[in-house]
Amino acid sequence: TSIFDNVTEAPPDKILNLSVMYKADTDATKVDLGVGAYRDNNGKPWVLPAVKEAKRVLSEDPSGNHEYLGVGGVPELTSGAAKLIFGKDSPALADSRVYTIQSISGTGALMVGAQFLAQFKPVKDAPVYISDPTWANHRAIFETAGHTVKTYAYCDFETLTLNINGMIKDLKEATEGSIVILHACAHNPTGIDPTHEQWEQIASVMAERKLIPFFDTAYQGFATGSLDNDAWAIRRFVDYGFEMLVAESFAKNMGLYGERTGCLHTVSNSQEITRRISTQINRVSRATISTASAHGGKIAGTILKDSNLFSQWLEDLKTMSDRIKEMRDGLRTLLEKLGTPGTWNHITDQIGMFSFTGLNATQAEYLKNKYHIYLTDNGRISLAGLNTSNLDYVARAIDDVVR
Ligand code: PLP
Repeated sequence: TSIFDNVTEAPPDKILNLSVMYKADTDATKVDLGVGAYRDNNGKPWVLPAVKEAKRVLSEDPSGNHEYLGVGGVPELTSGAAKLIFGKDSPALADSRVYTIQSISGTGALMVGAQFLAQFKPVKDAPVYISDPTWANHRAIFETAGHTVKTYAYCDFETLTLNINGMIKDLKEATEGSIVILHACAHNPTGIDPTHEQWEQIASVMAERKLIPFFDTAYQGFATGSLDNDAWAIRRFVDYGFEMLVAESFAKNMGLYGERTGCLHTVSNSQEITRRISTQINRVSRATISTASAHGGKIAGTILKDSNLFSQWLEDLKTMSDRIKEMRDGLRTLLEKLGTPGTWNHITDQIGMFSFTGLNATQAEYLKNKYHIYLTDNGRISLAGLNTSNLDYVARAIDDVVR
């Protein structure tokens, strides 16, 4: 017997499992459309030129060392990240109503925010609302922190567009003080974002119902190629007068996946409240990670503070988002040319790393078994896994499976 006899087996993580199966597949034609990471046109991971240069600058800094960071993280990163999200002329920044702490990428920012809210949310027992569907870790993170997690309608699974009426209805019926997780841009897994008008509707009902926005931004600049466009909703909510949290990841937009680089921002309506919040956020972070990860923080901080590196980064963002857009256009065009049954405009209407194709679990399984094409069973494909060498193969395979 063991003192751990009560430990049952946890269910496997579907996405990580898919990646294990892909790696084990020895077929030369295999295609990974599950991957949530950018790949270049040769199917290879890409180190951004801005990141390469920042690493060179850091390696030549004679004062460089491996000391612990302070509890707040790399100051150039946190101040730069706040300007990136809220805009450098943001009134919230000018009034010192924002507190930013470096986190273990987007996941860590969500976790620290979730733990802080578990203790300090204004309405005790108010639930956390996540979109249906959403990134699987959202539920896990907020449940782990002790919240009750509910869903709000998001995707119309028939038309593959935003179910705005369902969403507004669910938000209207939410308990006052509920926390609502919102994808700032490039919704994962659907690639469907609200229009500006729809964001206005969402803001209006959330203000009316006194709901608390918690933005998750993992794709700023990666979605449209413009940092400002991709932060539009967050800035609009600040202007609207919301107090809120924002979890920011530099995994995708700087390609710093494994370096675990991100920030948690909080916005309140007074400098004094923000000061008190900062002490509690620091306490939660100290108790979970003690201090953030230095290497990625310094790389991102170097890029954000140096105007030449920043310009290079803007070019890199454009390179990535343009290639993704080309793959969207290419896939849609090929499917339409093949006369594949159904409509395919949603592939180019959607945005960001993923497309919600409308393929079902049986079709996904068939694509894997017959064509060695790997995608999640909800029909989500990562456009980053497509390139000019495999696009035609993938389009023909989809055509076959749909017929
Ligand atoms: N939030 C969303 C919606 C994501 O898609 C991701 C990554 O896939 C993350 C957060 C955070 O990832 P990371 O912890 O690697 O920054």
